[in-house]
Amino acid sequence: MFMYATIEGKKFIENHAKQGTGGWVCKTTDAPIQQITVQHTTGSPAFEPGDLGVQNVDVQHLWCPKCGKKPDAKKLQGSHIAEMNLVRLH
Ligand SMILES: [Zn+2]
Repeated sequence: MFMYATIEGKKFIENHAKQGTGGWVCKTTDAPIQQITVQHTTGSPAFEPGDLGVQNVDVQHLWCPKCGKKPDAKKLQGSHIAEMNLVRLH
């Protein structure tokens, strides 16, 4: 299964973080960027044979412990994210 992040999360990293020795860190405070994995659904209902339909995806949610607050995994869990708002992580 592939790992995904949201477009919003990608933008957050681009604007807020820099590459540290052990991963992403905050540009201003050097705090290590935190992440949690939450399961979401993506895609749309299958209308034609061969359509992939709604799928479960694991999405990484990223935050800075100094400047932001931890995402509420319980609230996020199972919510739908459009495919266009997801980026695949390598
Ligand atoms: Zn920060």
